[in-house]
Amino acid sequence: MRRVVSGESIDRETNLSIALRNCNLNVVNASGVTIHVLEPHDLTYLDGRSVMIVVAHADDAALFCGGTIAAMSRAGARMTLVRVTNDDTDSVGLSPTETVDRNARELALAASILGIGTICDFGYPSDQMSDVPEVELRERLIRVMREIKPFAVLTFDPHGGGGEDNQDHLRVAQAMDEAFWTSMFDKHHPEHFDVGLAPHGVVERWYFARPPSQVSHIVDTSQVLDAKCDAAAQHTTMLGNLVEQLHLMAKTEGRELPRLADIGEDLPNFIRSLVRAGAEATGAKYEVPAAEEFRRVRYSGFEDVVNYLEQHYLNQKGDG
Ligand SMILES: [Zn+2]
Repeated sequence: MRRVVSGESIDRETNLSIALRNCNLNVVNASGVTIHVLEPHDLTYLDGRSVMIVVAHADDAALFCGGTIAAMSRAGARMTLVRVTNDDTDSVGLSPTETVDRNARELALAASILGIGTICDFGYPSDQMSDVPEVELRERLIRVMREIKPFAVLTFDPHGGGGEDNQDHLRVAQAMDEAFWTSMFDKHHPEHFDVGLAPHGVVERWYFARPPSQVSHIVDTSQVLDAKCDAAAQHTTMLGNLVEQLHLMAKTEGRELPRLADIGEDLPNFIRSLVRAGAEATGAKYEVPAAEEFRRVRYSGFEDVVNYLEQHYLNQKGDG
């Protein structure tokens, strides 16, 4: 693992040792100063472990974190995708029923390219998640977490760095953020325990957004960029709608832009080019060919406390 240091340098380990020496259990958070560059071999610790991806829409996984999903899958992780909505609105000129069917089919193809083994659909109507109670959505997420026991979860950053105009994304982020800790409480949804489930704690949160609030880790996705592009290119129904939106905005300014019909069969190639350019632009910031950015949090931000407990209460022989 390489490290790219940007901005003012603060030594995290030094802060940790000072904090522990002073019995100050305040957590030194990942301040965004040191950015860790993860290459494929750095993900082998996920071999055999369960990883959960929680998104609102069919195309979110490929677009936001498809390279990382492919890399984790190749490292041996068991990947489960939760899609909260049914994407019934995201198409041009199709009925809602046909839209649902097509988007589900395209997601199945994309998921198999990325190495996602299981898709769990909640089926809420698309673009209406802000009217779904957060606690209701949270319960469903907790149930899945208690079933598949993820080591890591990839999901939307509730504190994304701006630029998010999609309330479905934000609702998923809010519900998942609370699910991370309420899934461990024995008073939250004890009815789950009646069917053999138990409280479960996730170790790693991998937040993505456009952009994440504080990038702490990037994944070098150059070896899996083709998979990301191919997966995204399956979503011609949803990304065809994007082409139409761009056309409409340009039209308002009096500019001529192609319609979806003008792009026709070349749409998958256009999507590949778009996704490749985005991944390469992100990679250029960190001097790698292609990348995806994350704010990664371990142990809910309490890893220093975990280390303290481990050192001071389990290995007491070493204490003076
Ligand atoms: Zn989305």
